[in-house]
Amino acid sequence: MTTSNILEKIKQYNTIIIHRHVRPDPDAYGSQNGLAEILKASFPDKTIYVVGEEEASLDFLATMDDIDDHTYKNALVIVCDTANQERISDQRYLQGKELIKIDHHPVVDAYGDIQWVEENASSVSEMIYQFYLEQKNNGLQMTDRAALLLYSGIVADTGRFLYPSTSERTFQYASDLVAYDFDRSAIYEEMYKTNLNIARLKGYILQNIEVSPTGVSHVKLTKETLGKFNVTSTETSAVVGVLGNIEGIQIWVIFVEEDDVIRVRMRSKGPFINEVAANYEGGGHPLASGAKIYKWETIDPLLAELEALCK
Ligand code: AMP
Repeated sequence: MTTSNILEKIKQYNTIIIHRHVRPDPDAYGSQNGLAEILKASFPDKTIYVVGEEEASLDFLATMDDIDDHTYKNALVIVCDTANQERISDQRYLQGKELIKIDHHPVVDAYGDIQWVEENASSVSEMIYQFYLEQKNNGLQMTDRAALLLYSGIVADTGRFLYPSTSERTFQYASDLVAYDFDRSAIYEEMYKTNLNIARLKGYILQNIEVSPTGVSHVKLTKETLGKFNVTSTETSAVVGVLGNIEGIQIWVIFVEEDDVIRVRMRSKGPFINEVAANYEGGGHPLASGAKIYKWETIDPLLAELEALCK
């Protein structure tokens, strides 16, 4: 698979519908909408849609299109940043004529007629910029807005160029992207603003974490606790990083109770945790994974598996 295969496919279709994963983050939005902007600028005669559930905290990046089922007839569907089909936001992705997967997670579900997966890419936004660079001589055009979207995705998925996935290429692309005309400070302000409730919840987490002798740390956020701090389950994505630079912690897990599931947010400094996540209906990256459990007692075997990784 090369990026020219993807461009050829795009050229064959008049309607292109771009999806991404549920509970979106800035890389999901950045890659989906960055690609859409590039395609709109490059092919003004084509109709390009972006779909999926709206996430209010990402409205500053983009808003979604509302489309009928019949729009999928004869459409090309592209899914960004989504390892498995279950996590695709808007399950109508199967109603298109052909399907392309563009992703940077380890392959757990090889879906799509064309699959472009780069596990070493820091973000799918980085891959979309690579797509543009490799195909700009074949008609792709970049815009300021696409640059803003891709830059935001890269910044978010690299933890502001901190995570080991940040490569020389990431910096090169980021340096290209900041040359476009967009307000970087405004983006940082939107991405990193913390409301008082989240700030207080971070305080609660720091007060209540348990740390094992091997360096596995965890905290439980029950529905009652979330209610007390007036923070939603989705918003807890903003608190996961708070344990990342505490000395002695190798792996940290935040359990977030929802109505019918306990969402497990796991991060690691070294041991690969995505296989443990896969044992609990989850998956993700080697150092950043998610899973689901259904009762509090399951915490013990899950933590035991993480302990085994640290020993
Ligand atoms: P999160 O803690 O939700 O930010 O998730 C971290 C990473 O784990 C993301 O990159 C997701 O791709 C992945 N992930 C989270 N939940 C799941 C799940 N239920 N199944 C597969 N991958 C997941």
